[in-house]
Amino acid sequence: MTQTATPAAPRREAHMESQEPTVQFLAELAEQSARLETATPEEIITWAHERYGTGLTMATAFGPEGCVILSMLALIAPDTYIFNLDTGYQFQQTLDLRERIAEKYSIKVDMVQPELTVIEYEAKHGGPLYKTNPTQCCFDRKIKLLQQGVKGRTAWMSGIRRDQSADRAQAAIVGWDKKFKMVKISPLANWTKQDVWKRVMSESVPYNPLHDQGYPSVGCWPCTRALQAGETDDRSGRWSGTDKTECGLHTTQESDGSGI
Ligand code: SF4
Repeated sequence: MTQTATPAAPRREAHMESQEPTVQFLAELAEQSARLETATPEEIITWAHERYGTGLTMATAFGPEGCVILSMLALIAPDTYIFNLDTGYQFQQTLDLRERIAEKYSIKVDMVQPELTVIEYEAKHGGPLYKTNPTQCCFDRKIKLLQQGVKGRTAWMSGIRRDQSADRAQAAIVGWDKKFKMVKISPLANWTKQDVWKRVMSESVPYNPLHDQGYPSVGCWPCTRALQAGETDDRSGRWSGTDKTECGLHTTQESDGSGI
């Protein structure tokens, strides 16, 4: 694996002046993305670290992909600001994983929390909003936290894979995130689920025990259930019974049910 040079200062890209990217900037991103199509995740992370320095951040929900990236960041760029969207509805197993990661890699994950606690939020809305308006709940307790976590940064990294869903199939290795108006880097875009689990097992990367109990995809406990017999889509257990499939972090659509 390539080791990096000293982190560079955050680059102030041309697009940052107006919050809208120039055509030239988008073309440059597309070119970099095409060049990195055959790179390993470690090489992509190394490139991102060298290019964006402390302007690079990582958001993780402690899925296996995120944990693999954390294991790589621990070697390549351990000072990267990493954060979790601590909605107040995460499983205890997910919260415990943060400690296991810290213990193994000496890497800190900041917990970014909503303005209102769960009790205050439910009191304000006359009950749990995840039952009546999960899109609003995700907006208040996830999207806003991501906006908070990436504030002042230039690029954010996530663990999405192209084979996870039709929406994610469009993910570039490096691209412009229209929703959050910054560069988005997906080092595992080209990896399969098998690639991820092979790395988890071969390097004993800590992972959420719920994955061994029928939960291939873990989000907030009220909106996540184990897969049922016959279900093959890993995300079938998320927002089950609704047409919502994403919390909105990785979609560009803001008006449909799967957006924010
Ligand atoms: S996943 Fe469910 S509980 Fe979590 S923020 Fe979205 S609607 Fe709310």
